[in-house]
Amino acid sequence: MAEQRALVLHDLTWTELKEYLPGIRVAIVPVGSTEQHGPHLTFATDTLRAYEFSRRLAARLFPRALVTTPINLGISPHHMRFPGTITLRPETFMAVVMDVAWSLKQHGITRLFLANGHGGNRAALTLLMARLRDELGVKAAWVSFTAMASDVIREHVKSPLHGHACEGEVSQALYLAPSLVRKDRLTPGAIRPGLAEASPWRAETALSFDAITENGALGDATCASEELGRAIIETALDRVTAFLEDFMADREYPGW
Ligand SMILES: [Zn+2]
Repeated sequence: MAEQRALVLHDLTWTELKEYLPGIRVAIVPVGSTEQHGPHLTFATDTLRAYEFSRRLAARLFPRALVTTPINLGISPHHMRFPGTITLRPETFMAVVMDVAWSLKQHGITRLFLANGHGGNRAALTLLMARLRDELGVKAAWVSFTAMASDVIREHVKSPLHGHACEGEVSQALYLAPSLVRKDRLTPGAIRPGLAEASPWRAETALSFDAITENGALGDATCASEELGRAIIETALDRVTAFLEDFMADREYPGW
């Protein structure tokens, strides 16, 4: 399939951008992480998934959406016991997003959509929504795009503990950016014994991923397929596109 055109900051010169600027209604910021993803996905997984998702989204909205530089470091303290993971402190992460938003506002872009590929960023992104509005006058929204296809995932991903380096995430990677996947090393999550039987009535504690899985993966990556990745991503793209049409027209709440 021929790739559709998308506005991506990294691929433009400033004079090209200037021509598009009056028609740009939203900036899409891909948000990822640099963290371990088991034996079969590389450290770039969350960032590249978010970036490729954002490019496809911007293609659907061409020329009204601009994909910015991806934020390729996220909040990952729960993966630090695996070598290589680099985490930001939540305050650093939030400062980076605020500075990106401030910069875009100087160029006249005051709607921001954060396409998030990493669960550890969620709490900070939620807190950022009011800060962006109240401190910068920027209208913002964020989504973990995988959650926009949770029904598709529920239907096809049968492992009890899934969500990280599992068949769902590997499938997305196979569809969006196959270079992320070590196809000869697909391995089921090495879940610590006793977890499946543990009481579900637990309060929140500091999570360390190696307490859950020895090899850093959940689910069963051997069940991954490009077709499942396509189903997850294309469903999420349909739904996020519909939301952004409303968001760009300031009608995301009925009655506004
Ligand atoms: Zn991930």
